Amino acid sequence: MQFIFLGPPGAGKGTQASILADRWQVPHISTGDILRAAIAGKTSLGIQAHTHVEAGELVPDLLIMALIRERFGEPDMKRGWILDGFPRTLAQAQALDELLTRFRQPHPQTLYFEVSTENLVARMLARGRQDDTAATVRRRLEVYQTDTLPLIDFYKKRECLITIDGNHPADAVTQTLQASLLVNQSSQLARV
Ligand code: AMP
Repeated sequence: MQFIFLGPPGAGKGTQASILADRWQVPHISTGDILRAAIAGKTSLGIQAHTHVEAGELVPDLLIMALIRERFGEPDMKRGWILDGFPRTLAQAQALDELLTRFRQPHPQTLYFEVSTENLVARMLARGRQDDTAATVRRRLEVYQTDTLPLIDFYKKRECLITIDGNHPADAVTQTLQASLLVNQSSQLARV
């Protein structure tokens, strides 16, 4: 089980990733969580990342790739994984491809969470995270449009993208997601 959870900030990727990682017993790798822990712990990564995160900007690809490379070196990654909030740029997606080849890991399926802008803004402002002020929320959505949105086409072309309607409450989204994976699995089997 190798998955990328892709979607705008506030789409519920983290909630779904944590439910499913627990159910499937695979690591849930959230670059946002790793960065927040590094910032709180004032590690060298945290010190380099914190102004970017606070401004709602992306942390430079080189820093993100270093932390992902290190994480892929851990033995628990062999069972499968869910990547949440990574990749977020085309350069990260290409670097991930190289990493997977190097670690002899299969290419993941990508779940894209589609949510209306109105719901995204409401959810982000409701969770009250430090980087969820009105100004950073707006900036994070802009950055998503310019830097992350192109990944939808990138993975669509590979025919590994499944779109999930993320506008519903979390438990309904989990059900839709699992049902979509089953349908996808059986259509892949039918093609063999
Ligand atoms: P998230 O919790 O996924 O919304 O991430 C919070 C913040 O961490 C983002 O607004 C970025 O500043 C930073 N961040 C998380 N993941 C990445 C990534 N893959 N590339 C660059 N910056 C990231």
